[in-house]
Amino acid sequence: MAVIFGSPDKQNSNFEQQKQRLYNYWKNSRMISSDSVLKAFLEVPREHFVDPSFREQSYADHPLPIGCEQTISQPTTVMLMLQLLDVLTGHRVLEIGAGSGYNAALLSELAGVVVTVERHLQLAELARENLQKAGYKDVIVVKGDGKQGYAEQAPYDRIMVTAASHQVPQKLKDQLSVGGLLVAPVGATYGCEMLTLNKTAPENFQTGSHGLFSFVPLV
Ligand code: SAH
Repeated sequence: MAVIFGSPDKQNSNFEQQKQRLYNYWKNSRMISSDSVLKAFLEVPREHFVDPSFREQSYADHPLPIGCEQTISQPTTVMLMLQLLDVLTGHRVLEIGAGSGYNAALLSELAGVVVTVERHLQLAELARENLQKAGYKDVIVVKGDGKQGYAEQAPYDRIMVTAASHQVPQKLKDQLSVGGLLVAPVGATYGCEMLTLNKTAPENFQTGSHGLFSFVPLV
């Protein structure tokens, strides 16, 4: 029997196996207990958002280059952040740092409509293209400075920042609705703290700290 290595069918079934392995790891270790986050992970084909030269590593649990010296984040980090964000269907969601568009696709699985802001034009275009190819029509990719948020669609129930800054930009706090939740890595690139900000009143935030991570900087 002839075996054709690298045929699309074989590659797809490898991806499914690798995906299932990550899913089992998160579920069995109870690292990710949110069923909606786990389901979103199964729904989104990460291989469509990874640079073709790294496609075989689509389900390896580490970041991968996407151009402009940026990376698609490590899957475990993405799932932990999504779990902290506690997104419900119908929430108005803003992401800062579209990158490949992968996280925006996950957010769209969870919420529906998502706005994502990306500073690099090349990456904003990449995110748009990837999202379109994967069939995510409810994601609005905006080319701009995420520190300004995106006032046109504010306020947001949920905001997720996917690059590290020394403090959470004021505009993002302003654009969060009362009762809303923001997740952001805050501090230096290596060793930033994952923070949750719960907006309890127009000028009042409850802050939670959820461990140390590494992120590219918000510039
Ligand atoms: N969420 C992405 C990966 C994030 S990497 C994904 O799923 O693939 C961080 C991203 O933030 C990079 O694409 C980087 O270009 C972008 N970024 C950095 N500073 C920014 C800013 N001020 N405004 C918007 N995007 C920014």
